[in-house]
Amino acid sequence: MSRTPSIVDRLGSARSGRIPFSVEFSPPRDAEAEGRLWRAVRTFERLGPAFVSMTYGAGGSTRDRTVRVTGRLAEETTLLPVAHLTAVGHSIDELRAMVGAYADRGITNILALRGDPPGNPLGEWEKHPEGLEYADELVRLVRELGDFHVGVASFPEGHHRSPDLDHDTRYLVQKLRAGAEYSITQMFFDVEHYLRLRDRVVACDAEQGLKPIIPEIMPITSLRSARRSLELSGSHLPPVLEERLRRAAGDGPEENRAAVREVGIEVATEMCERLISEGAPCLHFITLNFARATGEVLDRLGYELEAPAAVQPA
Ligand SMILES: Cc1cc2nc3c(=O)[nH]c(=O)nc-3n(C[C@H](O)[C@H](O)[C@H](O)COP(=O)(O)OP(=O)(O)OC[C@H]3O[C@@H](n4cnc5c(N)ncnc54)[C@H](O)[C@@H]3O)c2cc1C
Repeated sequence: MSRTPSIVDRLGSARSGRIPFSVEFSPPRDAEAEGRLWRAVRTFERLGPAFVSMTYGAGGSTRDRTVRVTGRLAEETTLLPVAHLTAVGHSIDELRAMVGAYADRGITNILALRGDPPGNPLGEWEKHPEGLEYADELVRLVRELGDFHVGVASFPEGHHRSPDLDHDTRYLVQKLRAGAEYSITQMFFDVEHYLRLRDRVVACDAEQGLKPIIPEIMPITSLRSARRSLELSGSHLPPVLEERLRRAAGDGPEENRAAVREVGIEVATEMCERLISEGAPCLHFITLNFARATGEVLDRLGYELEAPAAVQPA
């Protein structure tokens, strides 16, 4: 199996004086969405992220498209892809086959996740009869299958199924002990949540606390879609920010997208500034397959972007 750089290696070798950034893409639903994704991919290629991640949807056709598109990222671009992989709805044999399909395309960085019940992420979890119960088992499985580099999810506000933050931290540390090399957080809008998560992991296990916790940032460009993402993720807007966005959206039947977007970009930039000053190892952006909002945040942060004018409208 050909070995590609690990995410930890990539973060370590980033240009000095600049915290690396990375981006998350999602599998496109159709040909038009795929065209949009590729325009974003080509823009980001010029902006130089440390890595790009591709989310995973468990349904059959989505799954095939995800593997194909992630494979193209590895084969046809200069980007380093991380393939998300969820245990939900899969037998262990199917998971092995998925990992093999990624390896065949030269993808050796995998984000191991449990996933949520299809249809209703907040619904009752049901383990596949021949599958896995928790993400730490998937970390072990992937590592047993070859020379893979594995990351996991972490939750600054606690996972919605965790009864409390101690429980949440204990099982995050269990995933790291199982061999995960880093975690990427759920999106959050109060940097204090991220800092406290980092402190909790160090307090629980100082050795595992050395592993990078990569903060995930979502620049808000629409209040309506942000609300949907918040509902699905279990993250919250601080009341002051909620009010700021609500005021920007206005009282009309249609929200004032331009004003909401301006607040969203401003807030994401402020959060990134704080994360940089607090020594975050990387800034990981949810892009929804658009380059413009993330490009603007990076531009405001003073990143030297090779092609800021080339980003396409979101
Ligand atoms: C960065 C990131 C990327 C994501 N990408 C995707 C994606 O591509 N596709 C997708 O469908 N979903 C994705 N998700 C969502 C994720 O699948 C869900 O949040 C899921 O509910 C939790 O996954 P996990 O891997 O953290 O699960 P786990 O680590 O298994 O945790 C699930 C819950 O069980 C608890 N727990 C864990 N182990 C044990 C144990 N041994 N005993 C008792 N309790 C335990 C945990 O504390 C937690 O409450 C992503 C989330 C994040 C943060």
